[in-house]
Amino acid sequence: MRVAVVTVGDELLAGETVNTNAAWLGRQLAERGVTVERTTVVPDRTADIARVVNEYHADYDAVIVTGGLGPTHDDVTIEGVAAAFGREVVESEEALAWLAENGGYTREDLADGTGEVPEGSRVLPNHDGVAPGCVVENCYVLPGVPDEMKRMFEEVADEFSGQQRYVRTVDAAEPESALLSRIDEVRGKFAVKVGSYPGEYVTVRFEGTDESAVEDAAAWLGERVEQPEEE
Ligand code: ATP
Ligand code: MG
Repeated sequence: MRVAVVTVGDELLAGETVNTNAAWLGRQLAERGVTVERTTVVPDRTADIARVVNEYHADYDAVIVTGGLGPTHDDVTIEGVAAAFGREVVESEEALAWLAENGGYTREDLADGTGEVPEGSRVLPNHDGVAPGCVVENCYVLPGVPDEMKRMFEEVADEFSGQQRYVRTVDAAEPESALLSRIDEVRGKFAVKVGSYPGEYVTVRFEGTDESAVEDAAAWLGERVEQPEEE
């Protein structure tokens, strides 16, 4: 399964908030064997949200949108997603009934716009907050508040699956340029994806669907590089 993640918020673009939702979703999806092929940050602007959701819902098996879900004036995600699918925004009786039953909210307690979703959506109740999420075709709309987002994702997590992938890493205390020919060799010998990430050490990352191939590749390289000293 191939998925795109769209995170919405001016504060993310300005670097005022670190995009932990994208990182958390990336890990959750990877653990389920789902490939995240895009993570995009867009401003709180209806047309921008509509444009990327419209593009991604056609290109990927699913799209996950987080942020901008509440009823405040800067929360326009529902409008954007509705526009992407050519649907009206409607007040969901189901969402209001859930809020009345579980939160004790009457319609008058709630800010205008609470409970609005694109027409024909499946409503996702918000167990940790107020604004409901929803599913429109293959697009999952979740809150921006990290705890609310995580809880709501867990409700739909089983709808995301793919082939289990395995990862092993090898650290090398050598400059990356010195490792190039050994990295080429390991790539040629084993049918796994190889990535190289310089930092304090060079971390070489092996990934694939065949666990023993991933382990063999990591072992092969591990025996041929200078290992960092134990701390
Ligand atoms: P609310 O209903 O409370 O308005 P919301 O779904 O509209 O929630 P936002 O208004 O976008 O969400 O953001 C709520 C809070 O969550 C903000 O503090 C915001 O910085 C944080 N947040 C939003 N998106 C992310 C993200 N991608 N990563 C980490 N934090 C985020
Ligand atoms: Mg908000």
